[in-house]
Amino acid sequence: MITPYTGGCACGAVRYEVTAEPIGMNDCQCRQCQQESGTGHLSHLTFLRDGVTVSGKAASFEMTGDSGNKKSRHFCPTCGAPVYMTFAAMPQMFTIRAASLDDPARFQPQAVTYASRAYTWDQLDPGLTKFATMPPQK
Ligand SMILES: [Zn+2]
Ligand SMILES: [Zn+2]
Repeated sequence: MITPYTGGCACGAVRYEVTAEPIGMNDCQCRQCQQESGTGHLSHLTFLRDGVTVSGKAASFEMTGDSGNKKSRHFCPTCGAPVYMTFAAMPQMFTIRAASLDDPARFQPQAVTYASRAYTWDQLDPGLTKFATMPPQK
């Protein structure tokens, strides 16, 4: 049995529940994640969309990543908290923000992406695998 991953925005208007284990967890120090978070990085848990239920209506804006792929960053229109991200070219993926979890301690990063964009004031665990941009495609 999986203990669902539950969480949502700061005011509670947007909530989600995921009945699956994440397929990846990472910290991302790219410029877009910095702009969205307001600090040095965002922390992501990525799940397959099938296990995800969202309640409440998030607003979103679209950004184009270095790869040229479009991603939609979803946030609560009331409190402004970033909650999740979806990808036009990968509709099966659903990425939530670690701090939006009811229990953020369940986030256990495996890697850092876009470490080349990091600022000295945003030092992450030196034991994590770091990629200058994205991990190489297998
Ligand atoms: Zn909210
Ligand atoms: Zn990023």
